[in-house]
Amino acid sequence: MALIVQKYGGTSVGNIERIKSVAQRVARFKAQGHQIVVVVSAMSGETDRLIHLAKQIQAHPDPREFDVMVSTGEQVSIALLSMALIDLGLKARSYTGAQVRILTDNAHNKARILNIDETNMRNDLQAGYVVVVAGFQGVDEKGNITTLGRGGSDTTGVALAAALNADECQIYTDVDGVYTTDPRIVPEARRLKTITFEEMLEMASLGSKVLQIRSVGFAGKYKVKLRVLSSFEEAGEGTLITFEEDEKMEQAIISGIAFNRDEAKITILDVPDRPGIAYQILGPIAEANIDVDMIVQNVGHDGMTDFSFTVHRSDFAKAMGILKKQVAPHIGAREVTGDDKITKVSAVGVGMRSHAGIASKMFRTLAEEGINIQMISTSEIKISVVIDEKYMELAVRVLHKAFELDHQV
Ligand code: ADP
Ligand code: ASP
Ligand code: MG
Repeated sequence: MALIVQKYGGTSVGNIERIKSVAQRVARFKAQGHQIVVVVSAMSGETDRLIHLAKQIQAHPDPREFDVMVSTGEQVSIALLSMALIDLGLKARSYTGAQVRILTDNAHNKARILNIDETNMRNDLQAGYVVVVAGFQGVDEKGNITTLGRGGSDTTGVALAAALNADECQIYTDVDGVYTTDPRIVPEARRLKTITFEEMLEMASLGSKVLQIRSVGFAGKYKVKLRVLSSFEEAGEGTLITFEEDEKMEQAIISGIAFNRDEAKITILDVPDRPGIAYQILGPIAEANIDVDMIVQNVGHDGMTDFSFTVHRSDFAKAMGILKKQVAPHIGAREVTGDDKITKVSAVGVGMRSHAGIASKMFRTLAEEGINIQMISTSEIKISVVIDEKYMELAVRVLHKAFELDHQV
């Protein structure tokens, strides 16, 4: 008998038929004698619909009220799934995040989980219930509802698995595992049987939304056995996230290509090249709670230099405003320019550590297609480039091919 946490995403509970089919899968696991905790997302499209409603009243919705609202999608799903389970003759009980007491900090819309009270879940499991928990949400110390950021139900799933010391956390979604790149962009993409935790962390942080990055972080910290699987298929082994590099069967140099369309680039031209300038530019950005990703400072000339960085696209207008109004006049920069039509494309693989020439192959491949690289950043196991958004699909396809990701075994 095992304790299994299963998380089902929006498409997997997208309509009544799908919910019934999830209930049947859960029933099969239950019949095998396992204890099951199920985490569900809102039905597909529901979170977007709620956000759209809120934005018709306030362009930037009040963060507390926003969470009260968007958390309702998951509340509907837990009740429907519990009904479906009860209808199959199982014992089931639903819980919102607050009812479990998934305690978070008070950072509305992107709250972090601090603690999970297992008492109710353990008692219910002991009594033979399937426990159904709303993903994506928690409660702060004062009892305010909080949400965990888009894709946050993955994090609820893995965090519950960690708290309950579950034998496995299964993430059921609309693809049958983690692929070498998003199969919607490259149909030749292959499912990976395993991927190392480090690679998955990079893939998620670089834009592969198959797992929310925080869920991967939890899996690493608490060594949760994490698997991504299809909710549309009867059986299948999916993709296992591994913690040891030598557990990895497929010794590829590059494991995957990730892309992120959510960034924007800002350049400040002709700033004085002197100590403290990066701080003077990025200090006010940080104070405004804007996260900065890539940063590039050009080699100076005649005491002047250019400075570029990327931010999330939703922070673009705010960041431009701060730089134009506060920073540029203060430091004497010539001009602030911005481009929110960029994409970051990245190649990820632990094999890069032991292989030279990966970056040059990536740059050559893009050059052969006439794709201009605007920014570059590297780490031990990834190379990222910023390119014009219009070349995104082409870049992902040619890199996928160049690194032979379409035909490895
Ligand atoms: P869910 O609603 O189940 O949480 P998501 O839409 O959040 O599902 O994530 C699944 C989607 O992630 C897939 O449909 C796929 O388009 C996308 N995706 C992006 N990169 C990858 C990848 N490397 N492997 C698999 N899926 C990926
Ligand atoms: N429903 C939330 C979203 O759409 C959380 C999730 O699905 O993981 O982002
Ligand atoms: Mg998701």
